[in-house]
Amino acid sequence: MAQPTLTLRAAADSGIRRHGRETYPHECCGALIGRGRQVMEALALPNVTEESSRRRFRVRPSDYLAAERRASELGAELLGFYHSHPDHPARPSQYDLDHAWPVFAYVIVAVEEGQPGTMTSWRLREDRSAFDEERIAVEPGGPPRSETGERPCQPGF
Ligand SMILES: [Zn+2]
Repeated sequence: MAQPTLTLRAAADSGIRRHGRETYPHECCGALIGRGRQVMEALALPNVTEESSRRRFRVRPSDYLAAERRASELGAELLGFYHSHPDHPARPSQYDLDHAWPVFAYVIVAVEEGQPGTMTSWRLREDRSAFDEERIAVEPGGPPRSETGERPCQPGF
């Protein structure tokens, strides 16, 4: 089976990166809104874990509802969530694994020394034992960028 691809509109891609830069050295988080595997909009959510937000993000029920409301405004669905890893690889932590739900896409952007870099997307297995990485593709149309943050799949984790 071909590896699934999550497609981000250019504005959603740059919005996630901008949010990660703005909240550095703290984590940012937000919702991914779109249809199927296409993200139309990245909706920034407040990070409520003030003291510990360098390493963890948490989506409150009220954020979840706000994201669902925004999705229905757009005639779309809540597809998942994004967050940043300040000075940490774009790979899910144990905390991320423990707090993820199946079905959703989890996009992680690494922000090194304030600069957004690698962006990855993950899906929780049905048995919740691990994440599987999925490809990210950015739709052209936004401002030109030299680096898409895409990287080849690395099997084995
Ligand atoms: Zn994380």
